Amino acid sequence: MTTRTVLVGTPVVPGIGYGSVVRPAPMPELAAECGILPESARIDEAARFHTAATTVSDRIRLRATHASGAAAEVLTATASLVVDRGWNRDAMKLIDAGTPAPHAVDQAIEKFAVKFERIGGLMAERITDLRDIRNRMVAELQGLPEPGIPQPATPSVLFADDLAPADTAGLDPRSIVALVTEFGGPTSHTAIIARQLGIPCVVAAAGLGAIEAGTTVLVNGESGVIEIEPDAELATRAVTEDRIARDVASSWSGPGSTRDGYRVAIVANVQDGETAQAAGRGVAEGVGLFRTELAFLDRDTEPTVAEQAALYTDVLRAFPGKKVVIRTLDAGSDKPLKFVPSPVEANPALGVRGVRIARDYPELLDRQLDAIAEAGARSGSTPWVMAPMIATVEEARDFAQKVRDRGMVPGVMIEVPAAALLAGQILHHVDFLSIGTNDLTQYTMAADRMSAPLADLTDPWQPALLALVSIAARAGAGVGKAVGVCGEAAADARLACVLVGLGVTSLSAAPNALPRVGAQLATVTLEQCQNAAAAALAASSPAEARAGAGAALGL
Ligand code: PEP
Ligand code: MG
Repeated sequence: MTTRTVLVGTPVVPGIGYGSVVRPAPMPELAAECGILPESARIDEAARFHTAATTVSDRIRLRATHASGAAAEVLTATASLVVDRGWNRDAMKLIDAGTPAPHAVDQAIEKFAVKFERIGGLMAERITDLRDIRNRMVAELQGLPEPGIPQPATPSVLFADDLAPADTAGLDPRSIVALVTEFGGPTSHTAIIARQLGIPCVVAAAGLGAIEAGTTVLVNGESGVIEIEPDAELATRAVTEDRIARDVASSWSGPGSTRDGYRVAIVANVQDGETAQAAGRGVAEGVGLFRTELAFLDRDTEPTVAEQAALYTDVLRAFPGKKVVIRTLDAGSDKPLKFVPSPVEANPALGVRGVRIARDYPELLDRQLDAIAEAGARSGSTPWVMAPMIATVEEARDFAQKVRDRGMVPGVMIEVPAAALLAGQILHHVDFLSIGTNDLTQYTMAADRMSAPLADLTDPWQPALLALVSIAARAGAGVGKAVGVCGEAAADARLACVLVGLGVTSLSAAPNALPRVGAQLATVTLEQCQNAAAAALAASSPAEARAGAGAALGL
C-alpha cells in the first residue's frame, strides 16, 4: 500500500485545484562590485540595455491588454515607466562611463526612487513600481526568468511564502487554479482578494518549502488538505465534482433559504458604488456591510458631506427598496485614513480605531451621518447604519441616538467580546447587530488577524468564537431583532450553515462567495443546521468543529 503525502493548512477559499506547482521566481541579485567595462564594449552594452527595456515594457503592456479596470491602468503606466526618458538617460550615462547595464539600471532607478520619495504623495507610492521595474530589467539583462508571479501556460498551483495583495490581484484564475501560502492568515488581504477572484486558497500550510516546482498537487480549499502526487484518477474526479458544485452554485439564484424554506438573507459586502452595482446584478438581496473607509483610503483630506452623500447615494440606488447596511468609518489599526488624526500607539488594534475616533472627533461622525441621511433622502430609502468596534452599552446607546435623530435605523457591529457578552443589553438601544467575525476572532483569541504563525488561532471555526456568536444570535432572537454575520466566516459555505443554526438571520460576504453559500444552504434543513451548530459548539478545536458540523450536514 502506498501512503500519500499530505500537507494541511488553513482553508480560506473553497474549491479544488489540481496542477503542477509553480513558485514566484526569486529576485535577481547583483554583485556589490561590478568593475569597469572596456570602451570597446560600451556601445554593445547600451544596445543590450535598450533591447531589455523594450522587451520588459512590451511584456507588461501585453499583460495590460488582458487585464481590465484599475489593473490595466496600473500595468500600462508601469510599461511606460520602463522606457521613461528620465531614468533611461541616467542609465545610459552610467553605461557610457563604463558601468555594466545591470548595475547602471540599479543605480539609475535608485536615484529616481530617492527623487520620488522627496516629492512625496502619489510619486512616493510609485517607488514600489520602480523597484519592480529594476528587478525585471536586471533579470532580463542577466538572462534570468521574469521575477515575481509566473504566468504559466498550463493550469498550475501557485506555492508562495506569502504574496503582496497587488501580486494576488494580478493572478489569472484560468492559469492559477489554486493558491497555497506558507504564511498569511485566513483574514489577511491576500485571502480576501483570492476569494474575490474565486481562486481556491489555503494559507498557513507548513512544509511547503520542501515541495519542488513541477510537483503535481491537489489542493482542497474547503478542508485545507494539499495532496502531493495524488492518484490522477481520483484527482480528476475531485476536479469534476468541484466543477459540478460550482455549476450548481452558479445556477443558484436565491433568495436565501434552507431546503425546508427557512429564510436567511444572503447579502453582499461592498466598498463603493461600482462594487454595489456589480453585487446588485448578482444574487445579493441587499448589502450587509458597506465598508465606507475603503472608499477613502487615498484621500488626504476629509471628503465633504456633499461628496460623501453622492457616494452613499450610488450604493443605496444599487439596491432600490432593499436593505443596505452602511458602516461608519472604521479607520485606524490596519486601515489608517490620512484625514483622521490618529495618535501613535504601541498597540493600534487595541487603540483608537472605529467608533472610538468619535471620542475626540465627534464632528467627523456627525458629518458622515448627515451625509448618509442626505443619501437616504435622495434615493428614497431608509439606510441601516452601524458603528464598528462597539465595546460598551453606552457607546451603542449614544450612537443609536445620533442615527435615530436623523431618521435612520441604528445598529452596531459585534467585534469585541465585551459587546457579544452584553448583546442583550445593547439590543435595548439598537435595532440590529452585525457580527464582524474577523475582529471578533482576533479579540477573542488574542491573536492578530494578520499574523501568519497564529493562523490556527484566528480560524473562524474556533469554538470560543462560535460561543460568542451564539450569545449574540440568541439575544437577537429573544427580542425579534436581526443579527447578521458580515465577517469572512459567512463566506465559508459549511460554516454559514452553522451560523444559521446558531440563529444568525443574514449572511453577508464578498459577492463572489454568495452563490456557493446560498446553494449550500439550499441543500440542508434548519434542523441539520441546528445540529451542526450544536456539534461545532461542543467541539474542542476547529478541526473537530468542522468534522462534527460536516457530519450533521451530511457533507
Ligand atoms: C470584521 O471584523 O469581521 C469585519 C467585517 O470588519 P473588517 O474586516 O472590515 O474589520
Ligand atoms: Mg472589523
